[in-house]
Amino acid sequence: MRPIKHAEKGLTLIARGLFSTIQSVNRFKPNPSFTPKWSDKPLLKSWQKSKPTLGWPRTTDSLCPNCVIEAREEILSGKKDVSVLINEKVGEIKAQIIERNNEIWMIKDCPVHGHFEDMMAIDAKFLNHIEDMFPGRDIQAHNDEKLHNHGSSTVKYGRGAVLTVDLTNRCNMMCDPCFMDANQVGFVHELSFEDIKEILDNAITIKPRRQMSVQFSGGEPTISPHFIESIKYSRKVGYNSVQCATNGIEFAKSKEFAKQA
Ligand code: SF4
Repeated sequence: MRPIKHAEKGLTLIARGLFSTIQSVNRFKPNPSFTPKWSDKPLLKSWQKSKPTLGWPRTTDSLCPNCVIEAREEILSGKKDVSVLINEKVGEIKAQIIERNNEIWMIKDCPVHGHFEDMMAIDAKFLNHIEDMFPGRDIQAHNDEKLHNHGSSTVKYGRGAVLTVDLTNRCNMMCDPCFMDANQVGFVHELSFEDIKEILDNAITIKPRRQMSVQFSGGEPTISPHFIESIKYSRKVGYNSVQCATNGIEFAKSKEFAKQA
């Protein structure tokens, strides 16, 4: 091992030791928690953070992929109101997370559509390591009950980092597969500038403020007629950074457009 590696290892051990000592002192005589101006509740100390059940085998909440497709079709055809997604547990089923030959699998049974199995990880040890790294739940959500009411998928913890706004489901490409089925669902879903403003305004005013940055996505966000003015508006109302998930074609076509963005 090279000397620099020994030095790195030594420094890591010292830093770990110092951190554990500081943690113990803090726990013994804790300072009051800090309440940032974007929250009405104080930030949590690391030892106050709770964790969901991790490891395996375990039971978790999941969805039947076919029930989801049927529910989407019923809502789009007007047969059911979109509020069923909040008020009814559409497509929800229990799933088991199990280890099989050092792989992690999710297995579930829908009473209507039968048995499903999905591989979650090709290396059980690696997933175990990732779960061990989970620092615990962040600050509890508050003051945003209406905005983040997603039924049983309601966001309960955390500040989050990036607000993703899908400007359009159109795209100037036709990839197979496409992560968003752009151009492939038989209808166009595109936000008006008023819709975009409302989303940005709502997200930046709630406490605790979850979204410090915004990412415009799609489909291909650069072909939305509101792409440039959405960037301008985001900066104006206070998003620290504005990103876009793009295939870059429109920027390659026009240097001016890229500069404007
Ligand atoms: S959104 Fe991305 S993945 Fe989908 S078709 Fe366009 S370029 Fe391809």
